[in-house]
Amino acid sequence: MNLCNPAYVRELLQRYSLAPQKCFGQNFLINADIPARIAGSSALGADCGWGGGEPCADENVCALEIGPGLGAMTRELSELYSKVVAVEIDRGLIPVLGETLADCPNVSVVNEDFMKLDLSSFLKEQFGERPVRVCANLPYYITSPILMAILEGVKPSEKPQVQSVTVLVQSEVADRLCAKAGSGEYGSITASVALCGTAKKLFTVPPGSFYPAPKVNSAVCQITLYKNGIRDAFEGLPEDDEELDRFVAKVKKMIAAAFGMRRKTLTNALSGMAAKAEIEAALERMGLRADIRGEKLSAADFVRLGLEMENGGDGNE
Ligand code: SAM
Repeated sequence: MNLCNPAYVRELLQRYSLAPQKCFGQNFLINADIPARIAGSSALGADCGWGGGEPCADENVCALEIGPGLGAMTRELSELYSKVVAVEIDRGLIPVLGETLADCPNVSVVNEDFMKLDLSSFLKEQFGERPVRVCANLPYYITSPILMAILEGVKPSEKPQVQSVTVLVQSEVADRLCAKAGSGEYGSITASVALCGTAKKLFTVPPGSFYPAPKVNSAVCQITLYKNGIRDAFEGLPEDDEELDRFVAKVKKMIAAAFGMRRKTLTNALSGMAAKAEIEAALERMGLRADIRGEKLSAADFVRLGLEMENGGDGNE
């Protein structure tokens, strides 16, 4: 069975009286290298790059796929991980997956809308305490909400159950996920991702690798979550866990406000959260101008600004 052979894909869909559903963002991979590389990169981790499909070194680690479609990447994941759970919204594809994954006993398919899951309970139910790596050729219509739902599930003070997220997305979205502060691609999603982990663009995928072909280029991006939570990445954070979670929620609000009002200066955008004079003083202590805009600040700058605003300069010279 070659799930990436265009003729086979058409025949399979026809046999089940199906056609690619635009409303579910169905663009199936028809270039066999791509699902193999995505699954392989996920199993190896970003730092190792593509190693030709080595199984995940830690047998305890499981894979969660969002939107298995016809099962091309699911089959690759089943070779590399001891356990795979695939969440598919389209009821029509469930019998197809029953056929295409019949010889993959370590895979279970769940017919659900990923966005309607309570992610942390779902992960516990499916995987217990085992670490999980998320892998997906994401439906383009819902890429950012899916990524945000995964990242929102990460408690800043805790070791995350999800170790990494390896996703095929529109090239433009991959650029946004990995952008540098101040660049044209930088946005709230870049800063939000950087609060949870590091993002890396791995490789690009041309439209001809999909059926039907999308109009734009795509790219694979890997987000590796901080191993032990946000304390791995930023200094000066509260030592108490509850206090840390509260503080990070506040930083997220600052980021949302800063990017929600891009035309305003950061001081004006944040004026609902603190007195302008306090914000300006905090910026000054950081060596930043009072009229700076939010898009110039990295996630580390937002964290530092939050600390400066809370501590009012205490402890600094
Ligand atoms: N993984 C397959 C592949 O690479 O060929 C299919 C990828 S296709 C771009 C996106 C898949 O996600 C489709 O199977 C679609 O039905 C599914 N999907 C769309 N929205 C979803 C949602 N909210 N929850 C779960 N699956 C979803």
